[in-house]
Amino acid sequence: MAVSAPEFDRQSRLRKKKYSEADISFIDTIEYTPKDLDNTQYYSVQDIQACLQRADLYVSNPNVSNRVTEFHQLANQIIKFISLIRRPGIVTPSAVERCMQIAYTAKLNSGCISRQVGAAVTDKNYSIRSIGWNDAPHGHVPCNLRNREDLSHGSDTGAYSNYEKSDVKYLNYFTESSKRFIEIPEEGRNNAFCFKSEYNVFKNEKNQVHTRSLHAEENAFLQMAKYGSTGIEGGLLFTTASPCELCAKKAYQLGITQIYYIDPYPGIALEHILMGGSMNPDLILFSGAIGRAFHTLYSPIVAYKDELKAITS
Ligand SMILES: [Zn+2]
Ligand SMILES: [Zn+2]
Repeated sequence: MAVSAPEFDRQSRLRKKKYSEADISFIDTIEYTPKDLDNTQYYSVQDIQACLQRADLYVSNPNVSNRVTEFHQLANQIIKFISLIRRPGIVTPSAVERCMQIAYTAKLNSGCISRQVGAAVTDKNYSIRSIGWNDAPHGHVPCNLRNREDLSHGSDTGAYSNYEKSDVKYLNYFTESSKRFIEIPEEGRNNAFCFKSEYNVFKNEKNQVHTRSLHAEENAFLQMAKYGSTGIEGGLLFTTASPCELCAKKAYQLGITQIYYIDPYPGIALEHILMGGSMNPDLILFSGAIGRAFHTLYSPIVAYKDELKAITS
């Protein structure tokens, strides 16, 4: 279970508890920065992003200014979960949960070897218009199906870009960096790699521009342009992570009115700054059950009609 608050609220609570700006950014660096498994710190500190991605019950705990109903929203979410745990299927999923579950389903199609993200776009009535996941554009081979040996030995050449196959300096770097993974194929694993990570080390950059993948959200937007759509103005976006600045800007231009997201990562407040203007979509922290919990909580054990008959016979 993940209990989270919008980023702005979380920071204001820490400030109230007398944490300085330096303290807050220190905590965020330790707990929110993605770590590699070979980093020894990985085993001794929290990895909040990974926890948020692994949760299947989400409780949203935003600041409430109304003192008389302060805990109503929080209590209602917990009452709903407890009721569903005791009586699976006693209520049906909300429209928001159904749409987020569809985004979650789409997420698993991603061939990205570091992080899978799913998105769904609906009209204002929660009717699905498109789905997307983070992956290389259709026609490119996803990262999980490419490998170091194929590139170095000239096999499956269609899967690698002209740059990867022809830039001598990059190839020299790549051969060198591949040495660490030389035993992987003998282990029976595909020796996949992330081009962006390799290229950034090669260029000594920390750039997100060189990713092979489209983001889940932009992929969902593009599906509508590609296969036809009657227009999505006034629609909703669901993402299993949170929209980056670029996707938030595209959502804004499409006239999306609400963005449901899961991961309130530090920096998401930037979107508020970036958006501004008069047509701001609401950023709404998701609350509800998805993934395994969606099935466990919403699948009735027996048909309710049969249950009623059984207890009265
Ligand atoms: Zn990748
Ligand atoms: Zn994005």
